[in-house]
Amino acid sequence: MARVVVVGSINMDLVVATSTFPRLGETLFGTRFATYPGGKGANQAVAAARLGAQVTMIGCVGADGFGDQLKATLGREGVDTRWVSTGREATGIASITLSGGDNAIVVVPGANHELSAADIDRAEQAIRHADVVLAQLEVPLATVLHAAKLAKTHGKPFFLNPAPAVALSDELVALATLLTPNEHELATALHTAGSDWADVLRRMPGRIAMTHGKDGAYYTAADGALVHQAGFSVDAVDTTGAGDTFNGALAAFWHLGIGEAVRRANAAGALSVTRAGAQGGMPTLVELEQFLQAQS
Ligand code: ADP
Repeated sequence: MARVVVVGSINMDLVVATSTFPRLGETLFGTRFATYPGGKGANQAVAAARLGAQVTMIGCVGADGFGDQLKATLGREGVDTRWVSTGREATGIASITLSGGDNAIVVVPGANHELSAADIDRAEQAIRHADVVLAQLEVPLATVLHAAKLAKTHGKPFFLNPAPAVALSDELVALATLLTPNEHELATALHTAGSDWADVLRRMPGRIAMTHGKDGAYYTAADGALVHQAGFSVDAVDTTGAGDTFNGALAAFWHLGIGEAVRRANAAGALSVTRAGAQGGMPTLVELEQFLQAQS
């Protein structure tokens, strides 16, 4: 069983459906409201836990009902929330308004932005015992950098999913054992807009696994050859959370080697898009194995 430590965001998604978007100053009745646990960190933690990894989450929520609820949800998924701290600000939220196939989204990071280097240090024993440390960019960059350094101190692989897209420092890039961007994030993270992404991958053998939607994923083997792991053909219903599922799976299966880990991450990502919601669509280990068997 792989031990995965996730350093990242924990949000509540507040989803409102309306027949039209409200104009400035207007009040209207919506048609539906629901809350969904989210945040890239929590999503990736849940993805890895469903696939059988032993997962520890390092994050920060507010002293409020959403914070309690999100910690409880993670706990029910088997994620260790001992190192989820309580900040002064409110729990992070994403306010999502849906209308006629369009959406309008406001993200308030709140307590996620309070996650500090001290929070990482407090969880050092979890990092010391980890097989993989996995982070994204919805918590402060300085905290991510600190986590990367601590992972290195303990000789642990540090995976960085550079999402949302931010230009990374050379220092952080050098500390990342593996970067897991999509094509757009790759260009932003590595300042390579205008370059052929395949060349970028070839220049960093073994250091990048790039997701590419239904096409699957690409990585460069240690010998410099560009490898395409084809995606699995499924009927896509909702692609929300596909990238998070891929990342959680990649960490959970890393001990199988990059080729098999990417193949399984593709399968988990494909399964996730066949069902609605981010965490709602994430497969269990049994579902993944049945899916892979049915493919062979
Ligand atoms: P992001 O949402 O972060 O941009 P991608 O769209 O590249 O990420 O999706 C992540 C992974 O999920 C892909 O590499 C692939 O394995 C899987 N995936 C995403 N969309 C589909 C799809 N329509 N069909 C099959 N697999 C998919």
